[in-house]
Amino acid sequence: MKIKKIYLIRVRAFVIIFLLLFMAVSLIKMFFGFFTTDNRQVESVTSGNINIQTLSPPFIEFKRKVRSGTTIEKILYDENINANEREIIINAVTKVFDVRKIKIGNEYVVRYNGSGLGSIKYFINYSSFLLIKNKKGKFSADVINIPIKTKLSVIKGVIEESLFQTILRLGEKGELADLMASLFEYDVDFNRDIRQNDSFTVLIEKKYVQNKFVGYGHLIAAKFVNRGKIIRTVRFEFQKGKYSYFHPDGKAVRKMFLRCPLPFMRVTSRFGLRKHPILGFSANHNGVDFGAPRGTVIRVSGDGVVFRTGYSRVRGRFIIISHKNNYKTHYYHLSGIKPGIRRGKYVVQGKIIGYVGSTGRSTGPHLHYGIQRGRRYINPLRLRSPSKSSVPKKRLKNFKIYSDVILTLMEGDNRSFLTKFLLHNIVKIAERSG
Ligand SMILES: [Zn+2]
Repeated sequence: MKIKKIYLIRVRAFVIIFLLLFMAVSLIKMFFGFFTTDNRQVESVTSGNINIQTLSPPFIEFKRKVRSGTTIEKILYDENINANEREIIINAVTKVFDVRKIKIGNEYVVRYNGSGLGSIKYFINYSSFLLIKNKKGKFSADVINIPIKTKLSVIKGVIEESLFQTILRLGEKGELADLMASLFEYDVDFNRDIRQNDSFTVLIEKKYVQNKFVGYGHLIAAKFVNRGKIIRTVRFEFQKGKYSYFHPDGKAVRKMFLRCPLPFMRVTSRFGLRKHPILGFSANHNGVDFGAPRGTVIRVSGDGVVFRTGYSRVRGRFIIISHKNNYKTHYYHLSGIKPGIRRGKYVVQGKIIGYVGSTGRSTGPHLHYGIQRGRRYINPLRLRSPSKSSVPKKRLKNFKIYSDVILTLMEGDNRSFLTKFLLHNIVKIAERSG
């Protein structure tokens, strides 16, 4: 006991010294303006002033969209560019961009100035565009990358409706619900286990291009409180260049089996699929029934090999997968089996193997899911699925310090400048030092 206390005090002291040192270094760096070397921090370059510099106003701009059947040739033709110039332009473009990759629906902006066509800017994706310029009759083409700025964000929520609705209410995008579901789905069945007043806190990267949100990056850390049970996870580089999620004790978040073979469904109704009947586990029923719309994909709950597929009067269309340690998982009443899923095929956890149906002895679309160990059937809802590999022993001490600091900062009052500053830099250091 005493030894543990001393150890903890030492760890805390180490963390504080580490942070102070780091802050000092950062402040010095900031002072000398070294921060601008970080690509993610560069804000001053915007696409707007890249082409304004080379054009003399006044100009007229047209925003257009690539329509089906459009080629670069056609785009140029429509702008009344003559055959000779079209060839020059296409030659220049093909050197920097594969013109077959022009996508229907993508935008392009055509700019005319006093002497004719000034430029064409075609948006390849949210962070790069093709720029064709006309400088006094000389055409050039370049692909220009717009810097993506990554900001760390702490998002906290209390579930009042579904997880999906809660995320939207917080002004976030639905993808965040998917990310959270895929992180916590080993511990929580997001279609069924969620209750009112469950809560979450996530520390996540948000990507911006010219101050416009374009998508989420990595979940750095997260906490989920489900029916009073607290689950915390932290992303950590457990091996050079390899990241995974771990609980604060170092155990892997990923487990041998998923809680539920059905994917997280973005239902907006209160607590999703719970209204569908679930027959409890019983010895002669040999599994759990998950009500779900016909056609819903079924994912294999753990890594394994297809043991049997077939059709029977009771099971309907079914799949049985065998896993290590003498486990088998059973999936019944399917409307269909995914092509390629046949005996002997190796499948990784989460892979889609079939679709929910109501074949065999069934009263409505549902998945019967069973887990067997040896000859015995076990209740999937009670199974304490073993974790996959934990943090390696030699990295465990580092991990514990890191997760302690990250979670404390994330869960505390993280609106302060200091907390934001620390979070940002600790994550950055962790990513760089490995
Ligand atoms: Zn059943």
